This record gives sequence, C-alpha cells and structure tokens, in this order.
Amino acid sequence: MQKDLKLFNELVEYLISEEKNTPVATPIDTTALYTTLDLSLNDDPIIDEDFKKTLKAIIKSTPKTASTSFFNQLFGGRIDRATLGDLLAVMLNNSMYTYKVAGPQVGIEKIILKTICNMIDYPETADGTFAPGGSMSNYMAVLMARDKYNPTARTKGINNKMTLYTSEASHYSVAKNASFIGVGRDQVRRIKTNDKGEMLAIDLDQQIAKDIEQGLQPFFVNATAGTTVLGAFDDVKSISEVCKKHDVWLHLDGAYCGSVIFSDQYKHLVNGIEHTDSFSVNAHKMLGTPLGCSIIVAKDKRHLNQSFSNDAEYLYQTNDDEFNLGKTSLQCGRRNDALKFWTLWKSVGNNGLKTIVDHQFNLAQIARDYINSHPDYTLYSFDDSISICFNYKNISANKLCTALYEDSQLMVGYGNFKNQEFVRMVTINSLLQEKDIINFFTTIEEFTSSTDL
Ligand SMILES: *Cc1c(COP(=O)(O)O)cnc(C)c1O
Repeated sequence: MQKDLKLFNELVEYLISEEKNTPVATPIDTTALYTTLDLSLNDDPIIDEDFKKTLKAIIKSTPKTASTSFFNQLFGGRIDRATLGDLLAVMLNNSMYTYKVAGPQVGIEKIILKTICNMIDYPETADGTFAPGGSMSNYMAVLMARDKYNPTARTKGINNKMTLYTSEASHYSVAKNASFIGVGRDQVRRIKTNDKGEMLAIDLDQQIAKDIEQGLQPFFVNATAGTTVLGAFDDVKSISEVCKKHDVWLHLDGAYCGSVIFSDQYKHLVNGIEHTDSFSVNAHKMLGTPLGCSIIVAKDKRHLNQSFSNDAEYLYQTNDDEFNLGKTSLQCGRRNDALKFWTLWKSVGNNGLKTIVDHQFNLAQIARDYINSHPDYTLYSFDDSISICFNYKNISANKLCTALYEDSQLMVGYGNFKNQEFVRMVTINSLLQEKDIINFFTTIEEFTSSTDL
C-alpha cells in the first residue's frame, strides 16, 4: 500500500496543478476517446511506468469539477475536510448494514440523521438513512408513502389506481420513481407553477379533489426546495395544508437547496418543513462533500422499517436493530457516505456550515448584480436562488455553452423554463470568490467578441 499511497500523492499533486493551469480540460471527442487514451483491458499487466503515464493522461482529460471555471452542475469544488473523510472511508471500507461490521461508523451516521431531524423540528419518532443520491432518496420517500396508503402493495402488488403530484419544475426522478414503485408514470400529475417556478397550491388542491372524485387514490405530493433549473422554493406551508386536508404524504425534495436548513438567514425558504412527512437533502450539492452524500429523513421511522426491513439471519446476528442500519436502507452492502459529512461538520461546526450556505447566496447576488448592471445581459432567475439564469446579447444559450466547453473556456450549462432557453450558472462552489464570478462574465465577453456564434 505504501507504494500506491506515494503514487496517489503524486497523482493528486498533478491533478491540483492541472486544475490551476488548465481549469477546463480539453475535451476528447467521443469518436477519438479509445484511440487518444489507453483504456484497453488486456491479458498482461501494464508496467508501472506506463500505468502512471496512463493515469496522468486520464486525469489531464477528465473534467475538473473543483476548478474555478466549473459552473455546470449542482455540485462543485472540493472542501478538504470532507474529502479527507471520504478518503478515510475508502481505506476503512466498512459496510453500513450492521453494527458488527461498521462499529462507530453507525454512530456517526445516526448522529447526523438525529441532528438533522432535530433541526427541522421533527419529533422523537423521526429517523432516516443515507441513499445513493437524491433520486433514490425521492424513491425511498414515495415507496414509504405507497406502503402507508396501500399496505398490501408490499406483498400483493398494486391493485388500485394511485396518483401522485409534483410541480412541472420538479426533478425528473419523480416520474421514474412512479414507474419503479408500480404506480406508473401516467399517474403523475404535474402541477403548474407561478412565474418563479413555485408550485401552485391552489392547482394542487383542485387536482387532488378532481382525482378523488374520479375514484382515484391520491397518496403522495413532492414539493421541491431548489428546483433544478431556477432554484425555486415551493411554498411548503401552503402545500402542507393541502396535503393535510386530503390526507396525503408530503415529501420535500431538498436535494439541491435543502441545505438552507443550516442557515439562519435562509432557512425561512423552507418554512413549514416540520409539517412534511419526509425530507431529503444532498450534502454533495450545497455542502460540498464529495459525491454522493444524500440523506432522507422520515417523521415516523416506522415507515422506514415497514418499507425497507427484511429478516436475514445470515446478516443480522448481533445487536439491536436500532444499530443495524440495513433494516432501514435501500441497499444491502452500503458505502459509508456519512463519514465525509461528519468530518466536515465536526471541523467547521454549525457556524461553518452556515457560512458555506450563505456564501453561495452571496456569490449568486454578485452574479445578479453584475448582470443587472450590464445591459447586454438578460436575467431570468430570481432572488434567493443560487441558479443564475441569463442570456447574453441574444446569443443562443445552447451554442454559447457548447462553444465555451469545446474551446476550454468555461464549464456551464443551459436550461429552460416556460419555453425560454438560457444559460444556467450555478454558484454552488463555496470556495469561489467574487473575482471568480466576475471572471466568469468577462470570459464570456472576451470569448464572444472574438468568436462567431
Ligand atoms: C440533483 C437533484 C436530484 C437528484 O439527486 P442525485 O443525487 O443527482 O440523484 C433530485 N432532486 C433535485 C431537486 C435535484 O436538484
């Protein structure tokens, strides 16, 4: 191992220097990928020297998500204490299903879950787990709701027409999950939003009432804290009143921006969160831990047990189920995603997490101010969002983003809302500074002035 740790250090040094010197890696055309890099798998081993060379070539060409030019996705940056925790988790290589095999790592996971439950004013009955991503957290939520409102679904399958609700601006996983749970994509009602991308509670109420009238069984509403394109926050309070009225499960998908719960200044954006039945948040988005780190909590942990526990004598041989986390998780063998979040949280404290969240909103405000003070730009997104959606000089957003990528200028994507396409810049990397935001815009200006688009 010592030899490979030495190599690892050398490769990481190389990665960090590449990030600095070539923040946007030169993309390899897919048709040339296998001829440009030696990715082949052969009968004979590769010699050490070539191994190192090949790895360096791969590192060089791999997109640099921690660079100051990466605004493409709902994650980015590298927070060292979180990365340290993830590296340790790899070395420890536990599986989180039993206390016998994971020991204190179980306590680390449980304390994160308990603390989050307390922060959102869930009662003592609440608990949660870590899922392999926000899509899977949403899957666990809708599955718990299905089993609550159709308890025989677990054993006999679905036999009545159940319906679920989410806004037209919500994440696509809701539709996928509807098919996974046997309810079907056609049973998803996509509720209209206002101009800011927030779900209309009145429309939700009317649609549920209509479905009940038709003899259908509404069972689940998905609200969003941070929609994928505009970063909008659904009004949890008014939606929760509709859910209470019709007795349906309310899940809050906070994969993108649920981390506002850590900020005194921004937690009001999820006012009413204590009225939800479940809540999910990706620490690998706003909190900058390495992928993936997705948390789902349920107000009543009996639903976690009801939907996910299974007896397995070969596995559960010691300790009580409170500490055998396999009883409430989607997977069997499960990676330790908790340690990296814990090493971060332990190092910076609640105050540090608050600073991380607040800084992203500050960067977003810097970006909006820039756009608003430069007439060549049009802004499409709103305050209290870390997605900055804009167009520049009527240049097609699609064309601009692709050209910036192909020319190794910037990594940024485009999106669309109500038939308007625009560039979506995401200020989620909390290690960025004002100058990086300004540099983003000046790069676009200089690039477009010398390129025909
Ligand atoms: C990113 C995101 C998801 C999916 O999370 P993954 O970890 O990528 O699976 C779900 N919902 C919203 C609102 C998201 O932004």
